Amino acid sequence: MTALLSRDGTDFSLVCDSCGWVIGNLATSTGDWRGAWRLFSLDGWHGSELAIGPHGCGRCGPPAALAGIVARSLDAPSVLPAGRVGQRIVVQLLSDVRAIYLRGELLCADEARLWDVLSGDPGRFVHLMVDVSQVRRLSSATLDVLVRAAQRAAERGGRTCLVGADPAVSRALRMLCLHHLLPAWAEQVSALEWLRAGRPVAT
Ligand SMILES: [Zn+2]
Repeated sequence: MTALLSRDGTDFSLVCDSCGWVIGNLATSTGDWRGAWRLFSLDGWHGSELAIGPHGCGRCGPPAALAGIVARSLDAPSVLPAGRVGQRIVVQLLSDVRAIYLRGELLCADEARLWDVLSGDPGRFVHLMVDVSQVRRLSSATLDVLVRAAQRAAERGGRTCLVGADPAVSRALRMLCLHHLLPAWAEQVSALEWLRAGRPVAT
């Protein structure tokens, strides 16, 4: 994620993944991610159309790495034991859906664990449902993990959605123009119906 959310989730900054240059308070001046990126790509920035990046400033040129700063930190081999305890993440496996429950604000170790959980082979669990009803905000790193998981699921014909997003979470998703990748439903029943309305899943 190279569009970094502010702590309260009401603003964001653009970060160059090569040199670390940060341009802050972009919601105030440009409205949302799309407006910001239109402006900065005219100013010589390169990179992904999506807020998750990677992005490179005009001085650095196109970003060399395929993943942004946050993603690269999550890709690094973990020094923690496999299966590390994380009470803030609960995984439930339904017939064709992985349901992930996030509880409270995730710490860096939780985000790394979430990445571990979601980056492996999903097997028959083609769809992903992430219950965020116990979460008041999602960090840029969490969003990075979820968006990349949604992209991988989509490659296999799977869908991804959120359940029970706080209005502040929904606002942050719209601000970063990620709401179409992580659509939010109020309740699990509607979420599951939507997930399974996609391509039929062979069992
Ligand atoms: Zn740069």
